[in-house]
Amino acid sequence: MKIKDKNFVEMLSREDIARIVERLAASLNADMEGKNPYFLVMMNGAVFFATDLLRQITIPCGLAFIKYTSYVGMGSSGKVTPVLPVPADVKGRNVVVIEDIVDTGETMKEFLSEIQRLAPASVRIVSFLAKPVALKHPLLIDYVGKEIGNEFVLGYGLDYDGLGRNIPDLLVYDGK
Ligand code: 5GP
Repeated sequence: MKIKDKNFVEMLSREDIARIVERLAASLNADMEGKNPYFLVMMNGAVFFATDLLRQITIPCGLAFIKYTSYVGMGSSGKVTPVLPVPADVKGRNVVVIEDIVDTGETMKEFLSEIQRLAPASVRIVSFLAKPVALKHPLLIDYVGKEIGNEFVLGYGLDYDGLGRNIPDLLVYDGK
């Protein structure tokens, strides 16, 4: 599929994605039982993943949205700043941040330093995708849907210059 000037091919079908989300939801339901987790959804990319995941969370939980400035084109801009900050009522709560993809880890590093100042009881990360080879900051991602290489993906909430978020499958740039 051609998006703007680049060609993308399928990496995960919507059925593959559904299986991954089901596995992650089952782990969270088991691990967070009795902990009244507070889910923070990282806008905009994680929206599709978050709504699919949260519909399968069967324990009582809270929900809020956060946002940091993100990618420009196909490369990280390197500067990450909060646009929608972490809500102050995370204090004493068991927070689970829902992310679409952890690439360099810059966004997560910024998020973790911001949230630590607000004294949550605990913080866990669930990310649909992770690029371990691109990671620049030591970071433990508690729940990962799928690890990928240093490649550029789009669809399922992820965009290329503002396009492609609505595609229900996950596509990867094929180099052309
Ligand atoms: P990091 O701060 O970890 O380098 O990057 C995190 C953000 O960059 C993600 O939340 C996502 O918005 C964006 N990003 C990283 N890798 C990709 C990718 O392969 N495709 C797309 N569309 N966005 C990406």
